[in-house]
Amino acid sequence: MIFEWGWRGKGETRCNAIAAGFMAKLVVRTKGLPAEVIHLKPGINRLGRSARNDFQIDHDSISRFHAELELRDDGLFVRDLDSSNGTFVNGEPVNEARLDSGQILQLGDVCMEVRDAPEPMATDQPMCENHPDIAAILVCKQCHRTFCGACVHVLRLEGGRYHRLCPSCSGHCESLAELRQNPKARLKVSDLIRRFFKRPPPPRPYVE
Ligand SMILES: [Zn+2]
Ligand SMILES: [Zn+2]
Repeated sequence: MIFEWGWRGKGETRCNAIAAGFMAKLVVRTKGLPAEVIHLKPGINRLGRSARNDFQIDHDSISRFHAELELRDDGLFVRDLDSSNGTFVNGEPVNEARLDSGQILQLGDVCMEVRDAPEPMATDQPMCENHPDIAAILVCKQCHRTFCGACVHVLRLEGGRYHRLCPSCSGHCESLAELRQNPKARLKVSDLIRRFFKRPPPPRPYVE
């Protein structure tokens, strides 16, 4: 059986995922096969039995064009290409799925462990302190809580200026959009985002 995990350099692109040190790879974990390593490239990676794929897997259970993996800044994703024997993640059949480090991707009968998959980026959008489903547009300068437009108290001052007051501490609220445009304030915004972004649970570890 011949395995050609060749880097063919097709459509090679620079990508922040790579710049950030993410080098997603698949490690073959199938009885009777060597633990070959497939180094995925940014963008689309096609896997299948045909030599016309980015990575050829010469195995009877693998379709000519079996699946494609997309390596993006915000994650690694797999899409089944109507393969005969299916694509599975941790044993569950999938058409499309996100892949996290430690999960097992299975194409036909060939199992591969996912390593170094990029993690989801913090959404650039903190949510309202009172309404977890509503995007926040304001942040309190005093208590640093974030709120939607409906939550802050608006005071109209003489001269047509508005003051927006925090419903929690009555501090002054600033627009997140304005903060983002001010490079000096960006760090502050990313701190807030970090605080409000809920990380997904870590993937289940692979047990051999
Ligand atoms: Zn406040
Ligand atoms: Zn709100």
